[in-house]
Amino acid sequence: MALYYFIVFALFAFSLGACVASFLNVCIWRLPREESVVSPPSHCPKCNAPIRWYQNIPIISWCCLRGRCANCRQPISPRYMVVEILGGVFFLLAYMQWAMPTILGYLPPFGMVRLFDPWMMAVEALAITGLILGSFIDLDHFYLPDRVTIGGMVLGVPLSFLVPEMQGQPDRIGALCWSVGGMAGGFLFLWAVGAVFSRLFRKEALGFGDVKLIGAVGAFFGPWAVLFTIIMSSVVGSVAGIALVVRGRAKLGGFTAVPYGPFLALGALVWMYWGPAIFDWYLRLLRLNG
Ligand SMILES: [Zn+2]
Repeated sequence: MALYYFIVFALFAFSLGACVASFLNVCIWRLPREESVVSPPSHCPKCNAPIRWYQNIPIISWCCLRGRCANCRQPISPRYMVVEILGGVFFLLAYMQWAMPTILGYLPPFGMVRLFDPWMMAVEALAITGLILGSFIDLDHFYLPDRVTIGGMVLGVPLSFLVPEMQGQPDRIGALCWSVGGMAGGFLFLWAVGAVFSRLFRKEALGFGDVKLIGAVGAFFGPWAVLFTIIMSSVVGSVAGIALVVRGRAKLGGFTAVPYGPFLALGALVWMYWGPAIFDWYLRLLRLNG
């Protein structure tokens, strides 16, 4: 019986994430073009044919239409479906964090444990939404929208006061301090790194959007999240850079414009699900060897 509930709610969480991401696909296309995200309703970018509701079901419609517009048969980018799958998976992970121990009585792997807290779920959903939106706009247009970065900083601080669990703090004032500290620390650190790099290489190495994004990560999840996100994103970013060099798509020592926003977003999401567990594991490793 418990398994039955677990699966029903898991399907709901995945579908909800996919639907949110489906709307994000619209925002990713329209926000940088300063178009309204509500009107006109969805239409094929090539032939302008309106997309009917049954052609607009996340993931399923793309597969049924085999990635082509129902009207003009022009290919539709598989990225729409990829974004929807990502939204579904991230919402599903946020759900599993508390549902596996609470509903199934089973501890999920890698310390993804959280007590059921509807406010915390809402905060995670908000963070996932903002990070997907920012990442894909950054991939397409090489900038992070202020709605995501400044919006995240402005929302993160009062939300931390209302939901202290975001900062892993028991009391509201403590959570507020961690939020402001994380925001200021992340912002100033990445800003300083960017300033030093642009002095050394005489070229802008870090966009100001990235600096504001790490500020938002700090406002939401505190200074440890900032530290983790910066380390994780620079490691993954370096690996991606090396992969580009190996595949001949970039020159060693040369500058290839790669948006850093998606790497920061990935780091922040990994922190949200597994960060504290990874820190615990690392601290235990230090103690064992020290
Ligand atoms: Zn079409």
